[in-house]
Amino acid sequence: MKYLNVLLLFCILIVGCSVNNFNVRNHANHIKSSFEKSNPEDYYNVPSKLELLSQLEKDALHKQYNTTNNFSENVLGVKTMLHTDEKVIALTLDACGGEYGSGYDETLIDFLIAENIKATIFVNARWIDANMEEFLQLASNPLFTIENHGTEHKPLSIRSNYAWGIQSTTSQEEVVNEIMGNQVKITKLTGYTPRYFRSGTAYYDEASVKIANDLNLEVVNFSINGDAGATFSRERVKQSLLHSTNGSIVILHMNQPSSNTAAGVKEAIPILISQGYEFVHLSDYELK
Ligand SMILES: [Zn+2]
Repeated sequence: MKYLNVLLLFCILIVGCSVNNFNVRNHANHIKSSFEKSNPEDYYNVPSKLELLSQLEKDALHKQYNTTNNFSENVLGVKTMLHTDEKVIALTLDACGGEYGSGYDETLIDFLIAENIKATIFVNARWIDANMEEFLQLASNPLFTIENHGTEHKPLSIRSNYAWGIQSTTSQEEVVNEIMGNQVKITKLTGYTPRYFRSGTAYYDEASVKIANDLNLEVVNFSINGDAGATFSRERVKQSLLHSTNGSIVILHMNQPSSNTAAGVKEAIPILISQGYEFVHLSDYELK
């Protein structure tokens, strides 16, 4: 009888596992392959391709990533610092796209190039579409690494949430598509597969972070808010950057050329260099 119970338990586990066996990476591959032969511009419409998933696949995805507690900038699993005591800082520049966010801050980028300052660029699919030539130039410059800032610039959540008035994704499959739409686009355009993800607004719930991790992406926010969405004055940008410590990750924006971001960065960076800081890519260190 005891053996029968063990056998029964084993069978339940096997059946249970096969139901839960739907892998988020398979889902991603599914999306990838459905776009393999299309034009890069078509990647923008990834969410409309959702219906390619069967109900069974959606159900499994929902079951696998179902617990979500917090919705904020710093939920479990979000990285905000480089794991080092060295005097290094990682500048991250967001390029958000959309009606009011598709500019190109040439002054900021030209300054970084002139001063040989490395930065990691989180680029959204909509920004790429609006700035294809600039995007390809940035991607080919070894000073910059290109990472994933989402397809439609949505906060990531498996349920409806709002951050700064922006509607989040509302289901697990939308989370996957928000990540993978741009992931496939960047990979197709540059040959580089991003390792890091930052959502539009930098808000997440824990289930979404787990989904990103299972898609081989680390979720990266910041320890220094450099320009508050490109709204800070020159002096505030400068002062924020000067609060950097060893291993800081700084968030700035490179899509608002009329902002004070470039002016503040230009003042802060020479001071940080004189203090002995070096500027590195996220990928140069482990994150914490
Ligand atoms: Zn953004």
